[in-house]
Amino acid sequence: MFSRSTLLVGAALFLLMLLAGCPALQEEMRGNGAPQNKIIISNSQDNTTAPCVEKDCEDDLEDTISFEIAAREVKANEAGQVMILMYHDIGQPEGEWRRTPENFRRDLQNLYKEGFRPVSLNNYLEGKIDIPAGTSPVIITFDDGHQNQFNFLKDSSNNLLLDPDCAVGIMEAFSHQHPDFEPLATFYVYYPLPFRQKELIEDKFRFLIELGMEIGNHTYSHENLRHIPADKAVQELALHQAETEKYLPGYTVRTLALPYGAYPQQEEVLHKGLFQGISYQVDAVLLVGSNPSPSPFNNNFNPMRLPRIRASEMNTEGVGLYDRLAYFKDNPQERYISDGNPHTVTVPDNMIDQVNLEALGDRELAVYKSTS
Ligand SMILES: [Zn+2]
Repeated sequence: MFSRSTLLVGAALFLLMLLAGCPALQEEMRGNGAPQNKIIISNSQDNTTAPCVEKDCEDDLEDTISFEIAAREVKANEAGQVMILMYHDIGQPEGEWRRTPENFRRDLQNLYKEGFRPVSLNNYLEGKIDIPAGTSPVIITFDDGHQNQFNFLKDSSNNLLLDPDCAVGIMEAFSHQHPDFEPLATFYVYYPLPFRQKELIEDKFRFLIELGMEIGNHTYSHENLRHIPADKAVQELALHQAETEKYLPGYTVRTLALPYGAYPQQEEVLHKGLFQGISYQVDAVLLVGSNPSPSPFNNNFNPMRLPRIRASEMNTEGVGLYDRLAYFKDNPQERYISDGNPHTVTVPDNMIDQVNLEALGDRELAVYKSTS
């Protein structure tokens, strides 16, 4: 029996040998600028097709070397931790579960300044994290569908105006000022009145989807799933899917935030279910607190148990957004840092044991020698 890491090292050496047969690489390896630690591990099932001849090889090699140097420079770590932020109210006054509009703007500004870029939750689940080299993904979520998350005002002519102090208005405005910070978030709403303005529910849902935002399941009526029988839990989850489709025909609600963070007694009802012909399937379950989530390429990634960071500053008990930002400043090696290439998963060599090869799909794994 070979361990996974043995196989990995074997694959790496095999590819290195193939690459070493290339005259251009031999030249590079003799030269001073040669990356002694260059290992690109193909995820292809058929390594024997790895090309290393003639002009193509030189081009590939140049790309590989410059890419590897860049990845090392930005300390790319795509097996690192990802913050999924949990917001509730955006309004006055500041509270344990409420951010003022000013503080929410400050959160976005600080995230931007610290190199975080929003990705949608569904893309994170699929490992589609396409952000610039050196930046980190952040996932923004809102629970409960409060009106102050998404509010329309009316002007004197009855035209609808996006409230500049609601969460969507703030994210939109921030994104206009910072085009590389997309307004992406998932809204975990419940029914019958998500965002409260009854006549505008469909408009709001469409507005969110067109921006690339997502609707998530928070049960139909915000039930504590631990306290109800399994068949009622199935009903709560299915009715949410059905009601969402009334406003967004064909839309699949893929993720669930548990009200009160409470699991049902029969956890399997979370995965999928059927109630009166309405089926649902849950690809990820979000918890209430309190750590970052693993990279989707990390062995510890468990989509049915994704912790979230409380995005507030009151009574955070050391695990709020700003506690975590401070922690990442002191421990940058634990944070997911992008290599800038969505087709490659890059990690320092001291993280290689944490990589789940099966999660790579058709992406390549690139490993560089860490300095620590
Ligand atoms: Zn809730």
